[in-house]
Amino acid sequence: MTNISPMMKQYLNIKEKHKDTIVFFRLGDFYEMFFDDAILASKELELTLTGRDCGLDERAPMCGVPHHSSEAYIARLIAKGYKVAICEQKAVDPNSKGIVDREVVRIITPGTVIESSMLSDEKNNYIGSVYIEKNTAGISFADVSTGVCHTSLINDTNLDDAIIAEISRFVPKELLVNGLILEHTKITDYIKQSIECAVELLEDNEHENKDIKGKFASQFGKGYENADELTSSDVCYASIYNLITYLENTQKKGVDRLKIIDFYSTTEFMKLSPVTRINLELTETMRGREKKGTLLWVLDKTQTAMGKRLIRSWVEQPLFNTTMINNRLEGTGEFYEDSMLRADLIEALAGIFDIERLMTRIIYGSANPKEVYALASTCEKLPVISDIISKCSTNSVKAIGHKFDVLQDLMEKIVSSLEDNPSIAIKDGGVIRRGYSEEVDQLRDIVGGGKGFLVKLETKLREETGISKLKIGYNRVFGYYIEISRLSSDKVPEHFIRKQTLANAERYITDELKQLENTILGANERLVIIEKQLFDDLLGSIAKDVMRVQSTASAIAELDVLCSFAQVAVKNNYTKPYVVNDTILKIEQGRHPVVEIISTADMFVPNDTELDCDENRMMIITGPNMAGKSTYMRQTALICLMAQIGSFVPAKSAHIGTVDSIFTRVGASDDLSAGKSTFMVEMTEVAQILEKATCKSLVVLDEIGRGTSTYDGMSIARAVAEHIMDKSGNLGCKTLFATHYHELTDLEQERQGVKNYSVCVKKRGDEITFLRRIIAGPADDSYGIEVSKLAGLPESVITRAKEILRVLEEGSDKVPVKKIEPKTEIVQQDTEVMDMIKKLDVDTLTPLEALNTLYLLKKKSSN
Ligand code: ADP
Repeated sequence: MTNISPMMKQYLNIKEKHKDTIVFFRLGDFYEMFFDDAILASKELELTLTGRDCGLDERAPMCGVPHHSSEAYIARLIAKGYKVAICEQKAVDPNSKGIVDREVVRIITPGTVIESSMLSDEKNNYIGSVYIEKNTAGISFADVSTGVCHTSLINDTNLDDAIIAEISRFVPKELLVNGLILEHTKITDYIKQSIECAVELLEDNEHENKDIKGKFASQFGKGYENADELTSSDVCYASIYNLITYLENTQKKGVDRLKIIDFYSTTEFMKLSPVTRINLELTETMRGREKKGTLLWVLDKTQTAMGKRLIRSWVEQPLFNTTMINNRLEGTGEFYEDSMLRADLIEALAGIFDIERLMTRIIYGSANPKEVYALASTCEKLPVISDIISKCSTNSVKAIGHKFDVLQDLMEKIVSSLEDNPSIAIKDGGVIRRGYSEEVDQLRDIVGGGKGFLVKLETKLREETGISKLKIGYNRVFGYYIEISRLSSDKVPEHFIRKQTLANAERYITDELKQLENTILGANERLVIIEKQLFDDLLGSIAKDVMRVQSTASAIAELDVLCSFAQVAVKNNYTKPYVVNDTILKIEQGRHPVVEIISTADMFVPNDTELDCDENRMMIITGPNMAGKSTYMRQTALICLMAQIGSFVPAKSAHIGTVDSIFTRVGASDDLSAGKSTFMVEMTEVAQILEKATCKSLVVLDEIGRGTSTYDGMSIARAVAEHIMDKSGNLGCKTLFATHYHELTDLEQERQGVKNYSVCVKKRGDEITFLRRIIAGPADDSYGIEVSKLAGLPESVITRAKEILRVLEEGSDKVPVKKIEPKTEIVQQDTEVMDMIKKLDVDTLTPLEALNTLYLLKKKSSN
């Protein structure tokens, strides 16, 4: 190492401590990368790889990106799952000798980004921490960009599935796990195969002998210290400890943002497996993985980024607790009833800035003046919203009002210190308002005055020298200069000192100009420093109000979502569901919230649903393909789910006894890439349902048993149906069961609680029309052939299918052999010719007769 240059030594020391990151090493206006980092980044970012002398025989591979445009490059690396360590130069002490000090100020990782360019406004960006110990686990999910941490204890008998369910609910971008997770391959497989998430494996005992509770109290305040559930669960503390420590190590400042901890119990929420989330297309369609065509797409009419994030998390996390659900429904109802109130609120919310994430950048010190000014503009609108809240009468909206702070002092603080519409960059000046700081005002006068002096000096010199084209200019290398064309060089006075020669002109300085330059540049430099200082002070002072801003931000988000629910309810003709803690599910004229909007072909036909845990436990639904069975079952599930997030529902009326979970097994969610056959996937999903469903669940089964032979499939379907309806265990839950096996309709006679339903179809001759109406009783026919005809199968195939069906229906199990008709004709022709030849008496034929016969034979054979 002796030959290595001091700067490179400094680099290598820093890199040694951040081996698993790409180090962005600040050199002047650039971030440089060296050695392997440079080779990797040059490939990933398509940068030119160069080299730098570093004291070794070979130059160090190097590549770099300009400091001012680094964010886009960092975003690309983060999106590819890398971590980036930002290493900055420390403030330079003018008296110090040698190289400037540098330090890593932040490590940007997929779960800790705060830059708007790397985040989606509509989604939270979670970093999770799972700490497993024996049969329990502590799990925490924090969004550093909004400052909230959710944490819970899991001691489910089926730990793996419960943890997977929580991970699928929050979809973290980064996950910290302790070593024991390696023994839970189901979880690790899920993380690897189903979500895009960077994983950080931590030591099992990282938290041991540490002051965990002290750390917890200093992070979230004393108020949380005695949270009963937490103190009794060490695994929760361990998971939070790991999370905070990781944030401290990577973010330095960012950990201050995390101030709110929400200790939740998984029982507050409806349980939804990852498969059900996909099947019900809550936030992403199954095919295109896009928002359009999902429940969220229908419900989201929010105005603010905070509202958009909240509505997504509500859709992803339906509630189970009836009080909480009715609280939300009451709020939705308030804005539903009063259209003036709703219109006013929508208008007031329209210009609200994402103050939740802005607050994070303020705490990090990375917010720019324009953004801070936007916070003031948002504060300006808050009294209007407060006014709207004061007109509301429901307790739920009033409770939101209690969280709402109009933040007028904050607005005054910002407005009194910043100019109107300040520039984005401090170095461009004009940030601090005139009158706020005497020193800034004085320096500005000097800079402004100095510029006036320059103009005066230019005029004076033109007069003195008689050179009319003399001009004063500025560049970064020489500072201010006097430029004179070569044509006038004979008129240049002696005291002009030549500095630079150009093709057609010479540049000079004079003592007077140098003095003026010192004054102007000195003042300008000082001005930038002081403006930056005052701006940083302002950020620090706003940061102290983080809890007040956060509280207002969360109130805005809630109002926005409730108002969006109300707006959609009015527009789409929804009704308020009656939600209680019983087992009845009674929907009158229910509709599918997405299909009714998307399908333009026909009017949507509403249908009723009546399920309970007693006489109407299981609906066996038969009917042809394409009749509307899946749509009907999904609409029932979605109506329950919508009610349990606090939304009104697409129905004439709805009595919703809360369900603790919705299970779905619907076709085509193949997992072939993971090496499982369709049938295997189907059976695994059914097994999970049988294992996890309770009597409070809603189960949707769409044609199970299809992936194997008819008798196998039917037997499995029946056995599953019997198991689910059996009340003697913990089951007997509300079930919708669509099937092609008409044999299952016998269950209605044999078992209590089963009801047959079918989708009505009108048949005229060969043609069928789907009426989309669900009626009591089994389907009279499966109309498979008619549906295939609709789908365009060739007529010959349809005819043959009918022939086979007729024979089978007559009781024969032998399929009639197909006649091959076209060939018979040729054979017939051949026989005729052969017959003629056979009958010929060659001995008696005259030559003419022979010729004529040959002619005839030729004619017959070519027919
Ligand atoms: P199945 O499950 O019986 O094969 P689907 O539920 O997939 O049938 O429905 C087929 C199509 O019929 C849907 O894509 C939808 O466009 C239409 N559809 C279903 N139910 C209704 C309804 N109640 N009103 C109008 N159209 C419907």
